[in-house]
Amino acid sequence: MLLFADVAAVFDKLEQRSGRLEMTDILAELFKKTGNEEIEKLVYFIQGIIAPPYEGIDLGLGERFAVEAIASTSGYTVAQVDRNYEKSGDLGDTAEALLEKRKQTALFTSEMDLLYVYDAMMRISISSGSGSQEQKIKQLTELLNNASPIEARFIVRFVLGRLRLGVGDPTILDAVSVAHAGDKSLRESLEHAYNVSADMGLVAKLFYIDPKNIEKFKVQPFKPLMPALAERLSTPKQIIEKLGKCGVEMKYDGFRLQCHKKGDQVELYSRKLEKMTYMFPDVVAAVRKIKANELIFEGEALAYNTKKKRYFSFQQTMHRRRKHGIEKASTDFPLNLFVFDILYLDGEDLTERKYSERRDIIKKLFKGKILKPSKSKVVATAKTLEKIFDKSISEGLEGIMAKDLKAHYTAGKRKFAWIKLKKSYGKAVDTVDGVVIGYYRGHGSRAEFEFGGLLIATYNPDNGKLETVAKIGSGFSEDEMKQLKEMLDEIKTEKPPTNLDYRLVPDFWVEPKYVVEVAFDDITISSVHSCAQKNDKGFALRFPRLVKLRDDKTIKEITTSHEIEQMFHLQR
Ligand code: ATP
Repeated sequence: MLLFADVAAVFDKLEQRSGRLEMTDILAELFKKTGNEEIEKLVYFIQGIIAPPYEGIDLGLGERFAVEAIASTSGYTVAQVDRNYEKSGDLGDTAEALLEKRKQTALFTSEMDLLYVYDAMMRISISSGSGSQEQKIKQLTELLNNASPIEARFIVRFVLGRLRLGVGDPTILDAVSVAHAGDKSLRESLEHAYNVSADMGLVAKLFYIDPKNIEKFKVQPFKPLMPALAERLSTPKQIIEKLGKCGVEMKYDGFRLQCHKKGDQVELYSRKLEKMTYMFPDVVAAVRKIKANELIFEGEALAYNTKKKRYFSFQQTMHRRRKHGIEKASTDFPLNLFVFDILYLDGEDLTERKYSERRDIIKKLFKGKILKPSKSKVVATAKTLEKIFDKSISEGLEGIMAKDLKAHYTAGKRKFAWIKLKKSYGKAVDTVDGVVIGYYRGHGSRAEFEFGGLLIATYNPDNGKLETVAKIGSGFSEDEMKQLKEMLDEIKTEKPPTNLDYRLVPDFWVEPKYVVEVAFDDITISSVHSCAQKNDKGFALRFPRLVKLRDDKTIKEITTSHEIEQMFHLQR
């Protein structure tokens, strides 16, 4: 039986380490002591989640509730807790400090095991309806009453959705392999299972029960796959040099949907793998009509303007991603889904088949008005590719996607199986997605909005760090400035994110939560930004400007520092 105190001690150790190898070994030691019935929950815990995203069970208890629970456990007043929090900048640290002081007077605490704590967290997350907030505070108070100060630090951070141990998914997978095989030899098959199910807890559990389960792991309806991702190149010539004869598809600027069907049951998942079925009744009805019993496919959804007989812009299409007024939105902005991949059909896992074969199946299966194959052509020369690219731009699309005819579906990976060529701001340059980690006060004409710009970071999976890459001062409309300031004020923190590598200090730090798409002129070497830095020099975006908020991306999916480095070399 795994005690939560032992888990918390390991978390504490992890926080003080930064090297991936060392973290892997620490976790592997813990995994060796973990039982079959515990591993699933432990893995979720380390990921900072209570269940995979598509289950729709969110943590994120409000700060005020946590403050109240800490007050009632520690015997301090709410005002005293708030004062400590103002100083510490981290409610987990505050809980630990105040419980440390209480310790001398506490009469009794009972040891909690991991499963007990997990169940309590689950109850806190799912209780809803009237009186649920009181219930949540009560349950958290009970947990904290039994917790040691260190346990309290992690419990509080976890329920706030801010655990952030700085342990990435690859490190967890490595550690499971090291715990069982003594080395990373099982990592690849574990990773494959994770990429085609997006549920690391489940994969670890099945593996603990019998490692053979992982070798046989198959794609299955209602377990969404991690989306395949595209590499980028800058010219048609580079693409043909890399792929030779390839499939060239239109690149639509809407939102990605992964559709699953079994009999009459249909579910739709976003790019972040959240369940979005209820938002798109028109797509659900169309999927139901497809002649297949079991099916998984992917496409890009665009809203169609029936009066003007053309597609709406990205911003207008985004009206469809809403929680209310769904019926009216479906009439005003009817969706077309351009199907660009198929992953599973009537018992057969298609992810291992060649793209050219998958494409043939798509053409046969999707012939409707709503679900149609993405436009595609097999191309052998840079000249023809360029023509298609220019045509796509003249039709108002984003560019093209070139696809390797022989490649299988690379779930969860950015590979040269897909290569994107995009146009933005009149030049063939790309945009990057970064996470906002701070913002600046407004000066001059901006003073009235109290908002002067954003500090943006990329992610470096080699060391688990966020690294700054741009300070954005332009691209904001007045409305956006107001909206951004409001959103960011809610997640202000006293300290920088624990895993941030930085030299620039913004006026305000914020929790790394919002992903933004940023356009720029080129990439330069910088002595103030830490992105992919070597010998005190990092990379930075020159003339960065905000394109849009990317609420379809999680912070795990932002551009990596390595990609920025690659883009730097590509531009030369
Ligand atoms: P990425 O998905 O590579 O992280 P991103 O979300 O910022 O980046 P882009 O860089 O614009 O998006 O390109 C990939 C996205 O393009 C896919 O996730 C998909 O939503 C969209 N897309 C549009 N048309 C196609 C197509 N024909 N094939 C594949 N993807 C397409």
